[in-house]
Amino acid sequence: MTWSFPLGRILGSEVRVHGTFLFLIAWIAVTAFSTGGVAGAVVNVVFILALFACVVAHEFGHALMARRFGIRTPDITLLPIGGLARLERMPDRPGQEIAVALAGPLVNVVIAGALFLVGVRPGFAMLGDASGIGAILAGLLSVNVILVLFNMIPAFPMDGGRVLRGALSIFLPRLKATRVAVRVGQGFAILFAAYGFYTGSFMLPLIAVFIFFAGNAELGEMAARARVADLSVGDAMVSDFTHLSPDAPLAAAAELSETGDQDIFPVIGSDGRLHGFVTRDCLHEAPRQGDPTPRVRDIIGAAPRTLPISRGADALFDVLSDAPAIGVTGPSGRVVGFVTQAQAMALLRRRRAR
Ligand SMILES: [Zn+2]
Repeated sequence: MTWSFPLGRILGSEVRVHGTFLFLIAWIAVTAFSTGGVAGAVVNVVFILALFACVVAHEFGHALMARRFGIRTPDITLLPIGGLARLERMPDRPGQEIAVALAGPLVNVVIAGALFLVGVRPGFAMLGDASGIGAILAGLLSVNVILVLFNMIPAFPMDGGRVLRGALSIFLPRLKATRVAVRVGQGFAILFAAYGFYTGSFMLPLIAVFIFFAGNAELGEMAARARVADLSVGDAMVSDFTHLSPDAPLAAAAELSETGDQDIFPVIGSDGRLHGFVTRDCLHEAPRQGDPTPRVRDIIGAAPRTLPISRGADALFDVLSDAPAIGVTGPSGRVVGFVTQAQAMALLRRRRAR
């Protein structure tokens, strides 16, 4: 996500903070300082940091449950409106989806329960004036209860909405279940926005916008997957192409790239293995002379992804979202073709036109 920076890695996921989150902290500090002085500012900032620690714990509830089903969570981002765990893919079994969705709020139930057991009682006494640790804990107990209740509203893609989609997809095809859940969620989004404007809260309309667009985006992606469900990666790939050797001098490679209308070139070793991709622009911008002679391997980017030729074409969406192109391997493991983002989009357009 742009505008965010990493805090560190916890349990295999990178925890990131969105830049606007810092503005939120600054805003809270300034507001609290104006009414409660330094002590008020400190108490309120400590409270908001503790609250967001609870939000991170909530997201790790999702991530750790997803991991039980073999799904990694590359990153978790903290936004002013809450946390966002980016799962590598969504579980497709209804039971797994429901378990992953419930695991987040369950963490907040545990935190609230633990606070209650040690004698903390809910309350928001501290929100105006500055008082000590007791007020912070009382506030934390309250917000954990609110987090559970709010997240369980069936407004897809919030947790309650994912539970709803999971439950619906026991009876309905998954795409249809998603469509129903997204429309229900958008109904809630309109209610949130209206209530937010009515009460003067800027947070609810923001959350409403997120629900509205994130729901549409996920529905669009599912519909796209459904359209290519009967195709394989082999159907989408380019099999007649020019490739480059990693040892080829850049000058020769740049010359070769001029001969056809190919814009992106797989770099394939003598063993048939994919080393990466280089674009024509990249070949032309790189210095071609020098000592030692620059070679194609010097300008290859990150390690490339590959998919077997027989995999379903919907797998392309998972890998092409953060790679410009992927290699396609035959039964022997050698590269037999490649698919770019543009080709995957063209495949979708052809399917839509049918
Ligand atoms: Zn959640």
